[in-house]
Amino acid sequence: MHEYPLEGGCDCGAVRYRMETPPLFVHCCHCRWCQRESGASFALKAMIEADRVTLLGAEPDIVDTPSASGKGQKIARCPKCRIAVWSNYSGAGPSVRFVLVGTLDQPDHLPPDMHIFTASKQPWVVLPPGTPAVPEYYDRKQYWPAESLARREALLARIAAQATGPRRPRNSYKAYHAHVYFGPETVEQARELVARAGRLFNVQVGRVHEKLVGPHPRWSCQLAFSAAEFDRIVSWLDQQRGSLDVLVHGLTGDDLADHTTHAAWLGNEWPLDLSAFGRGTDGKDA
Ligand SMILES: [Zn+2]
Ligand SMILES: [Zn+2]
Ligand SMILES: [Zn+2]
Repeated sequence: MHEYPLEGGCDCGAVRYRMETPPLFVHCCHCRWCQRESGASFALKAMIEADRVTLLGAEPDIVDTPSASGKGQKIARCPKCRIAVWSNYSGAGPSVRFVLVGTLDQPDHLPPDMHIFTASKQPWVVLPPGTPAVPEYYDRKQYWPAESLARREALLARIAAQATGPRRPRNSYKAYHAHVYFGPETVEQARELVARAGRLFNVQVGRVHEKLVGPHPRWSCQLAFSAAEFDRIVSWLDQQRGSLDVLVHGLTGDDLADHTTHAAWLGNEWPLDLSAFGRGTDGKDA
């Protein structure tokens, strides 16, 4: 057994991290993607729960990078020297990090538990006997130690618990409003956000109301857009909104349904004043 935590980081020292416990499993991946990304013949990646990796230095930049699955991966790189320290794959999501073992101060501590994608292994690489090797991928239950399988189950349970927050917007209507909520301290932030949205997207930007309008329990500004713009606008809003909460609702002509069953949230959910409906106030406040 090795002593944990283990520390690691990039070349220039700006990004430093601490792996608090042993990883779930260590892959030595011989796929062509890992060969390209490392410039070498394989990549050594230690899979571990994200909350068991403590960031000590600068926040890494997250670089969207293609992946073999087509779903993409996010590679965390030092903002200065650009060395990659870990990545997240869409399959496992942001809660599992694939730490690049070569960035540990003592990388010798983590030899591979398994060789994967050996079908594309470079022919001069000779695998040691005694370590499992598979031509592509494998069934976790056959190879992971029981403790790692249990840790994975616990992680999935935590993710499921987090998923029961406010309903997230989905693109299932023809047209939408996004109402950006703010208060006296955040009105300038909101004003700047909706002005940028107006410049970047095909969107109608309403007035910045420094008062309560319609069913909205906070000061608000309405953005109106169609299904064609939904994906771009909603993901941009979610990235740029900071602490501002945004109500996103479909427009079907039924005001009450639009503000209940057709409503979803970026950030926190706010209770709406539904007593206004029947008089059709919302949707005419632009
Ligand atoms: Zn660096
Ligand atoms: Zn690979
Ligand atoms: Zn609305």
